[in-house]
Amino acid sequence: MNGLDVTSEPFIRLSVFILLLTILALLEFFSPRRQSHYPKSKRWLNNFGISILNTIVVALIIPVVGTGAALLASEMNWGLFNWLNIWPLIGIPLYILAFDLTIYLQHRLFHRFKPLWRLHRMHHTDLDYDVSTGVRFHPLSILFSAVIKLSLILILGPPGIAVLIAEIVLNGTSMFNHSNIKLPTKLDAALRYFIVTPDMHRIHHSIEAEEHSRNFGFNFPWWDKLFHTYKDQPSKEQAAIDLGIRGYHEEDSIGLFSLLTQPFRKDRETH
Ligand SMILES: [Zn+2]
Ligand SMILES: [Zn+2]
Repeated sequence: MNGLDVTSEPFIRLSVFILLLTILALLEFFSPRRQSHYPKSKRWLNNFGISILNTIVVALIIPVVGTGAALLASEMNWGLFNWLNIWPLIGIPLYILAFDLTIYLQHRLFHRFKPLWRLHRMHHTDLDYDVSTGVRFHPLSILFSAVIKLSLILILGPPGIAVLIAEIVLNGTSMFNHSNIKLPTKLDAALRYFIVTPDMHRIHHSIEAEEHSRNFGFNFPWWDKLFHTYKDQPSKEQAAIDLGIRGYHEEDSIGLFSLLTQPFRKDRETH
């Protein structure tokens, strides 16, 4: 499959994850953007615990995801790229772009429809904001997302390597833009031309409704600018933004059990 062995995907993804986690955690320690208010060890245990659970759930329920699906599409001659015989050098960036737009639209769906919002809300009820927030998603929202990604792969039939790159980039940028690191203002402004920065995405985690309906992008910042959902700066200073969802406090936002059952419990939102 375009020189890529499907069995190497988990190894490559895990290696990049550990490397990035180490770098970002060190930067958070030495140059934090904001002070943490809640016990980090407990939050990390739960946020990373959920991430491990998500990996297991997806592997068990949808075994053919990622590069495996691209291989299947290529063998069966499914998908636009295979029908049009798109050259991989064009197919790779084209797929990464289409994938990122899909993730942006999916994120807007998660906010737009109540049942999906209940699944996504758990990501927003984290009361601090750091690299672990970037992997904190409800398993059912990950399953929903896996079905969308699988559909995109089967519709487009991209090269396997494009699927692997897109997944690694998404995981990496999600960890980066949730990290509690302080970037120089000029660097943040320069990066924002092509990547969502922590200061940009943090606005999306604000408790204020007007702010949390902005900056849906995960990787490229262009979709927010194109669809007029971009907000450059928060109304308060970055260090003073109140994070979370009104009505959700520590007891609803940290324990693993509370996080998993949160979508099915009575709404506590107060606007
Ligand atoms: Zn969101
Ligand atoms: Zn987020």
